Amino acid sequence: MLCVDIREIHRGPVRTSAELQPEDPTFDGLGLDLAAPVTVQGQLQATGAGEYLWRGRLHGLVRGECRRCLTEVIDEVDVEVDAAVFSSDPEAADDPGFYPLPERAPAVDVGAVVREEFALAAQAHFLLCREDCAGLCPKCGADLNAGPCACHTPAEPV
Ligand SMILES: [Zn+2]
Ligand SMILES: [Zn+2]
Repeated sequence: MLCVDIREIHRGPVRTSAELQPEDPTFDGLGLDLAAPVTVQGQLQATGAGEYLWRGRLHGLVRGECRRCLTEVIDEVDVEVDAAVFSSDPEAADDPGFYPLPERAPAVDVGAVVREEFALAAQAHFLLCREDCAGLCPKCGADLNAGPCACHTPAEPV
């Protein structure tokens, strides 16, 4: 469960764990092609008046195209979140360093952190099918991993 009752958090740190399916609404509109469920492990605790801190780890597999040769690539996304702070302080509402909470919120939903942190990490990934991918020929579009294309073959000596 990623949505935790405030009263429960005030009794002590709460472990949060979940396995979110690729079609989970948490990832709606992010344009990510998830190749596996995203696992979430973490802990939520109260750190002050109307302030809660979550730290944990996200893990998933994202499908994309190699930036050089456009082959399908499945890449691992592993994110360590040190401190995501939820705050119901109105002054924190405009601060991007906080996840805003409505005043007297009955629960804290870690899903917001999962969505944001996972998307950031996935978008920062530089997808390559392999470290030394040769890419496509800019002239003829041939996949140079398969060998040199006609443009790169030295002309026959006359
Ligand atoms: Zn490639
Ligand atoms: Zn070529």
